[in-house]
Amino acid sequence: MDKLVYLFEEGDRSMNAILGGKGANLAEMSNAGLPVPPGFTITTEACMAYYANDKLFPDGMWLASKEALKVIEAKAGKIYGDPENPLLLSVRSGAPVSMPGMMDTVLNLGLTSETVQGLAVLTNDERFAWDAYRRFVQAFGEIVLGVPKERLHHVLEQAMQRTQSGRDSDLSVEQLQTVVTRYQEIIFGESRQNVPDDAEEQLRMAIAAVFDSWMTRRAVDYRRINRLPDDVGTAVNVQAMVFGNVSANSGTGVAFTRHPSTGEPTFFGEFLDNAQGEDVVAGIRTPMPIAKLADMNADVFQQLQQVGNQLERHYRDMQDIEFTIEDGRLYMLQTRTGKRTGRSAIRIAVDMVNEGLISREEALQRVSPQQLEQLLHPIIDPAVETVTLAQGLPASPGAASGRVVFDADEAEELAAKGDEIVLVRQETNPDDFHGLVAANAVITARGGMTSHAAVVARGMGKCCVVGASDIEIDYGKQLFSTPAGSVSRGDWVTVDGNTGQILMGQINTIDPDLDENFKKLMDWADEFRTMRVRANADNPTDAQQAREFGAEGIGLCRTEHMFFEADRIEAMRQMIMAPNAVARAEALAKLEPLQTGDFVELFRVMEGYPVTIRLLDPPLHEFLPRHEETVLQITNLKLKLRDATDLEAIDSLMQQINEKTHILEQIERLEESNPMLGHRGCRLGIMYPEITEMQARAIFTAAVQCHGEGTDVHPEVMVPLVSFSSEFNAQEALVRRVAEEVFAEHGVRIDFLLGTMIELPRAALTADQIAESAEFFSFGTNDLTQTTMGLSRDDSARFLPGYVNQGVLQDDPFQTIDKDGVGQLVRIGTERGRLTRPDLKVGICGEHGGDPESIDFCYQAGLNYVSCSAFRVPVARLAAAQASIKADAN
Ligand code: PEP
Ligand code: MG
Repeated sequence: MDKLVYLFEEGDRSMNAILGGKGANLAEMSNAGLPVPPGFTITTEACMAYYANDKLFPDGMWLASKEALKVIEAKAGKIYGDPENPLLLSVRSGAPVSMPGMMDTVLNLGLTSETVQGLAVLTNDERFAWDAYRRFVQAFGEIVLGVPKERLHHVLEQAMQRTQSGRDSDLSVEQLQTVVTRYQEIIFGESRQNVPDDAEEQLRMAIAAVFDSWMTRRAVDYRRINRLPDDVGTAVNVQAMVFGNVSANSGTGVAFTRHPSTGEPTFFGEFLDNAQGEDVVAGIRTPMPIAKLADMNADVFQQLQQVGNQLERHYRDMQDIEFTIEDGRLYMLQTRTGKRTGRSAIRIAVDMVNEGLISREEALQRVSPQQLEQLLHPIIDPAVETVTLAQGLPASPGAASGRVVFDADEAEELAAKGDEIVLVRQETNPDDFHGLVAANAVITARGGMTSHAAVVARGMGKCCVVGASDIEIDYGKQLFSTPAGSVSRGDWVTVDGNTGQILMGQINTIDPDLDENFKKLMDWADEFRTMRVRANADNPTDAQQAREFGAEGIGLCRTEHMFFEADRIEAMRQMIMAPNAVARAEALAKLEPLQTGDFVELFRVMEGYPVTIRLLDPPLHEFLPRHEETVLQITNLKLKLRDATDLEAIDSLMQQINEKTHILEQIERLEESNPMLGHRGCRLGIMYPEITEMQARAIFTAAVQCHGEGTDVHPEVMVPLVSFSSEFNAQEALVRRVAEEVFAEHGVRIDFLLGTMIELPRAALTADQIAESAEFFSFGTNDLTQTTMGLSRDDSARFLPGYVNQGVLQDDPFQTIDKDGVGQLVRIGTERGRLTRPDLKVGICGEHGGDPESIDFCYQAGLNYVSCSAFRVPVARLAAAQASIKADAN
């Protein structure tokens, strides 16, 4: 077996994997000559061997620990378990990554009924000794023997109440002794075990408890959620105690070398005088700002700042340190990279580059896409206590409050009056679009990360939670119930699109603020990235927003989104229900100028950049009213007709019934069992060529018009849902013919590209054939995921979160690309396409185009660009830079 126990001075920070983060940093600090109380670390390998060995310590580990203990004893000049001159120890867990689910620290190990007397004599402070013993018995009982905290805390509370001022520091020696006795009784009652009165046994049990804490429910859950492996194990740190509670010139605290919320380069932290670390955690007393330490002991404060600076320069990152002052002497107990908010991360990264501490590449890698994301949207004020009503999928980030409304029309009406609205729906469809626009946030009980609500809200940068399956909506009663109670129409809720939580009431949020540091970091990202970043945008507002966030063109304009506005949907319906080609052409003629206007505006906003316009994609029934609603309307009209007496009214009702019945017939005619696999995408344009012709004419007319105005236009026309090259060819012929007609009519030619979405496995597999005529590819990984996995993008939200929770899948494949399956098709499609057309431009426009991990994959697969909703553009720019930097480093 390898070496299982390391003295602090035998390790260094490169040994994180076997010493854990805490152990490696304690070793590093010891070797840097900082004042660290002596100690040793038992390795993570020992922990894994313990599990492999039926929870027995691996051979030699205990012996090696006792040897190491002798070294500590020699350094401290005290003996562990010695009644006259007792050494006390702390025992802490420490995994290779910071893991809050694991064991708390046990302090004052080595105190027994005998050594407590020795400590009293040694410190000449009987109260101190008994207080230390009280703390030890309590911690051992709770942490090692698993006695519920409240049981022991209650005893202390009662004892404190009997003192004059009600504080623990007022307890007399006798009272402390009574508390200890009572603790021991309760501990035995609860656990059927005694706190051992033998120092060695205490250490043995505490080490085993740390190992055991690796597999507690909390720890396992934490690893599951954070996608950390189970087979790493935790190290155990055993260290000589120093006391922050021996005198008024003692204390303990935590500090950050820079401000963890703002990133300001100021020392920030808290300090408690005459106290032990656990007092800070327990909240028995309120700590003071770290600057107050200067009043107590200016020298120590200065030394602490120096140590902080030294550590920051050594680790080249902001540090979070724990320290204790024992009678005027400073000891360092821990240092680690400090956790920080997005704002702080960016400021620190930029400042450290300016200070010459890190390179720009490092700065870019220091800021996670999630941290950057925090800056782009409102967040819930972390200072506010919240009550969670339900949990769904975080479909679109941000945070917003409003009164609950269940109907899109009502949302629009109330919002127009100035009300703040949260729209709650079972799921949304294009009919609800105006409600989404009007609401501050959107909740759906069903639907996944690529559902209508998710895609539309993300496009608008509107906060949205989908698939909140533990809410039950009762439209009739106008309420929804949740595990935490029911919410009626008009009640306030707050939606946290960053976490997927639905919170009770109106909660304060903090607005985004894109400062100079953000801009600087983004500039650096642009220097390092090689992939282009475009936006999915279908209207000038989103396109403008995308430009402001640095998008280099539009990668996907979903033209169907342009037909849902009130003045267009009627013409669209006329087109769909047209009894013959002539009537259809008439309806399309009404739509054409509107479409032309749309494209003109997009071209203007995206001047100089490519604009990829996708031909109509969704099944036509989506543009018609809903079946149930139409049936209901007909029933109501019939009821009115029954009671009508006035002839004119009867006439009008009859006419309305006829119209609605006709609509219903059309709805039924177009209804499909699997619309996602039905008559959509290029299949529409092939069966209704007039639609493609109208759209092509609108695109080229707009391009010609903009060109005439001096606007530099780069149209790219994209054919959706192609499976066969012949499908593409059929649409290509139409588009090129119309282009020629428009160019001839205006006497100008505009360069354009004609390409296709690759969103069906067959298209990826036959990409070499498709690339013979297609000039670019854009992977539609939403549909590609759906069709590769046979997993409906709308219905899978019911069980996918369960899959992820159970670890069957690591990620929601609609969120992060499935590299092995869908990703393989992306690679194949790209490679085969470029076999035919080596300079084929390839991008992605599925929702994965805004997901950092998927962006990294796209880089590796050789894509030229990613396209994502406007609000994700900065994140994509950073992720693309990180992908390049990572690849260069390998
Ligand atoms: C896709 O399928 O990935 C895509 C971008 O198209 P849509 O989401 O509109 O089907
Ligand atoms: Mg698609």
